[in-house]
Amino acid sequence: MTPFRLDEHYADELDRQDPLASFRERFHISDPDLIYLDGNSLGRLPKLAIERANRLVQQEWGESLIRGWNEEGWYTAPERVGAKIARLIGAQPDEVIVADSTSVNLFKLVVAALRLQQGRTHILTDNLNFPSDLYILQGAIELLGHQHHLDVLASPDGIHGPVTRLYDSLNEQTALVSLSHTAFISSFTYDMAEVTQAAHKAGSLVLWDLCHSVGAVPIKLNEANVDLAVGCTYKYVNGGPGAPAFLYIRRDLQDRLRNPLSGWWGQNHPFELGLNYEPASGLRRFLTGTPPILSLSLIEPGVDLLLECGIDALRARSIRQSEYLILLWEELLKPLGFTLNSPRDAGLRGSHVSLGHPEGLRIDQALIHEMKVLPDFRAPDTIRLGIAPLYTSYRDIHTAIMRLRQIVTERIYERYSTEPPSVT
Ligand SMILES: *Cc1c(COP(=O)(O)O)cnc(C)c1O
Repeated sequence: MTPFRLDEHYADELDRQDPLASFRERFHISDPDLIYLDGNSLGRLPKLAIERANRLVQQEWGESLIRGWNEEGWYTAPERVGAKIARLIGAQPDEVIVADSTSVNLFKLVVAALRLQQGRTHILTDNLNFPSDLYILQGAIELLGHQHHLDVLASPDGIHGPVTRLYDSLNEQTALVSLSHTAFISSFTYDMAEVTQAAHKAGSLVLWDLCHSVGAVPIKLNEANVDLAVGCTYKYVNGGPGAPAFLYIRRDLQDRLRNPLSGWWGQNHPFELGLNYEPASGLRRFLTGTPPILSLSLIEPGVDLLLECGIDALRARSIRQSEYLILLWEELLKPLGFTLNSPRDAGLRGSHVSLGHPEGLRIDQALIHEMKVLPDFRAPDTIRLGIAPLYTSYRDIHTAIMRLRQIVTERIYERYSTEPPSVT
């Protein structure tokens, strides 16, 4: 490879040389000039999902009608798609099922885990976790009658996870460790195997939220002996807006946990319509109501693309691209007051890179409204640049950095208000 250069021709060279570059063509890209760096919030549309959607609506719904539950495989879709996702995260096919949203799945698993851990009173998490995860933990504690204490361990620098504090806090009181594998703002990524092992030593269960790592970072749930996990499918998995989430329960725990949302889809014989709840065996007990078949089925094309590419190859490209971005930041943006708000060590990062700037909000607005770059913004000052290695190009990264530079050198951001819009 030719030595690093700052010009756009070098970016094009990298694109030409990259073995995974052609996966970009598998996505619907209607405006080639739009630089999309928000695949970590909502992934792009796989072309195959368009065909699938047409077939689903016209044939499966339109023609099969109620017969679709059996004839089109709708009834088993939560398990079928779950089994495919299992291959992305190093789990057995019968350890993953698709259901509900991440927040709801988290609630079901947290309550089930705390009930199993009778007598233990502490839950450990950190302040890098996604707010919804903290709200769910707070809600579960309330529901269970305030018998538990939530320890929100503080990151030492707002970027890295409080690893040492976490190890020091584990003891015989710890019921559950509930963390995001990759932190949604800084991109810090925990060593899943090490943390899980430490928690197990103290007798705690571990629940990982994989939302910001699944489809981008290698995950080996079985190898790390993980107890529980949840994750979403609309970010790096490219399953579509609001696509249902998944949950993982290690096989030996499945029949020991009870779903607190005990609906008919988790009942042992849902169509006998008996009046008393009796949980199904295995993971189906963690279903609650009728699954959203249309959006559930549209997850599959995105998962298939990831499996075809292979997570290790994808991770290698994600690291090549994020290292390229960071080199450009160092040369072109750091002198203008941008800080790197993600770990510098690629081994500790997910697939997005966060840059801070005191004028972050207004710079972000200028990027979106005048520069045709879509990143996203997290208060108070962070611009997140999501690298979705299936379709982000080096040229995208180069252009985004050049435009960030222009917004500051030409003071374009000064045209924007310091008031945040309602959705960032
Ligand atoms: C995106 C994300 C969620 C989203 O939860 P929903 O229930 O789908 O809204 C939850 N946790 C983390 C860590 C996330 O990144």
